[in-house]
Amino acid sequence: MSNPIIRFDKVNKWFGSFHVLRDIDLSVQPGERIVICGPSGSGKSTLIRCINALEDYQEGTLTVAGSVLGDKLKAIEAVRRQVGMVFQQFNLFPHLTVLENLTLAPVWVAGLPKKEAEQIAMAQLERVRIAEQAHKYPLQLSGGQQQRVAIARSLCLTPKIMLFDEPTSALDPEMIKEVLDVIVSLADQGMTMLCVTHEMGFARAVADRVIFMDEGQVVEENTPDAFFDAPKTDRGRDFLSKIL
Ligand code: ADP
Ligand code: MG
Repeated sequence: MSNPIIRFDKVNKWFGSFHVLRDIDLSVQPGERIVICGPSGSGKSTLIRCINALEDYQEGTLTVAGSVLGDKLKAIEAVRRQVGMVFQQFNLFPHLTVLENLTLAPVWVAGLPKKEAEQIAMAQLERVRIAEQAHKYPLQLSGGQQQRVAIARSLCLTPKIMLFDEPTSALDPEMIKEVLDVIVSLADQGMTMLCVTHEMGFARAVADRVIFMDEGQVVEENTPDAFFDAPKTDRGRDFLSKIL
């Protein structure tokens, strides 16, 4: 095995006195596809937000793409350049066109010339199959289209790792597939990804591993088929009986 691109080593985190992440040990190999599931409030979002330093932690060590994430600003900047994140809410700027949403960070943060940023943006819009909407405003698009734009926006910074936090749970059912299909195609292109989702068909199709969390702990780790067909723990069985 090569070096893990993400490594949690006994990571603990508290919100005040609330112990939200408990002794997390988790290694992710480059190119690996991980699905994280578990009940609401189990710490899934907090776990993945630690990976791009949107949250800090108090104990243990978290290494992402070679940088140890502590409170060092340098490490945080290095990691943010390599990790893209897509949320349940698309978080697009409504007053900017699709293309402007995509070129904002490359031009103002990464310092790319506008023309070059636009070329990259158009290529990423092609990749999520929505290039023809480049000059529209986000609210003129469907939810599924907006989420694909949000994915393209993350890709413009050429991340090594993509984090998805329930990317389809704010979508109408008929739009879920178009977004999952885009994520599947990224997976096929070898992107390292962690995706919080309860979409079982998606998990079975793309995940190398399912991580099941409950009460701040990783309770089970298994292949999707093994986890969904025969969970090893009572907590896993109980969770699946509720989502199935
Ligand atoms: P999940 O994504 O699995 O639903 P979260 O990681 O969002 O869970 O939250 C885990 C727990 O931490 C929940 O009980 C939540 O209320 C709490 N929590 C999340 N963010 C904060 C915060 N900023 N301050 C205090 N408590 C928080
Ligand atoms: Mg969450």
